[in-house]
Amino acid sequence: MTADIHIFDDTRDEEFMHLAIGVAAKSREAGDHPFGAILVGPDGAVLIEQGNAFSAHGSDMTAHAERVLATRASQTYSAKFLNSCTMFTSAEPCAMCAGAAYWAGIGRIVYGQSEAALKDLTGDHSENPTLDMPCREVLASGQRVVVVKGPFLADEASKLQEGFWMTADRGL
Ligand SMILES: [Zn+2]
Repeated sequence: MTADIHIFDDTRDEEFMHLAIGVAAKSREAGDHPFGAILVGPDGAVLIEQGNAFSAHGSDMTAHAERVLATRASQTYSAKFLNSCTMFTSAEPCAMCAGAAYWAGIGRIVYGQSEAALKDLTGDHSENPTLDMPCREVLASGQRVVVVKGPFLADEASKLQEGFWMTADRGL
C-alpha cells in the first residue's frame, strides 16, 4: 500500500506543541497522567484534543492520549484525510500509540519529550512501565510513510512530569 506523501507546513509547530503540552497539563490537573495530544488538520484547525485517560476510562492501561486520539480520529475521519493531519504529542508515542497512529492513517507525528528521557523519570512505575522503543523504529516497519519530528520543545514537555511519578504510585 502506498499513499501520497503530504507536504506538511511546519511553521506553526511550536504553537501546536504548546497546545499539546497544555492538554497534558490539564490532564494532570484533572488527576490523570501528564500526557496530552492534539490532531491538527491540513488547514491548521485543531480537530481533536485528548489527554491521558487512564483514570477517566476506569484504569485503562491502554488509554494513552495518542492511542485514544488515534481511535477517535479513525472513527471520525477517513485514513486518506488523516494522511494530511499531524498529531502533536507531549511525549514520544510508545509502540502501541505509534501503531495506533499508523493504523488510523495519521501522516505526521511531532513529539516533545523522548520515550528514553521519559523512562528515566517514570522508571518501572506500575501505572507507567515505559515501553522504550523509538517510534521511528515502529513506523519504519510499516507500509506507508509517517513523518516524525522530535524531540521538540523537550525541556518544556519534560516539566509536565516533574514530581509526578515519585508520589503517584498507587500500586495497581
Ligand atoms: Zn502510548
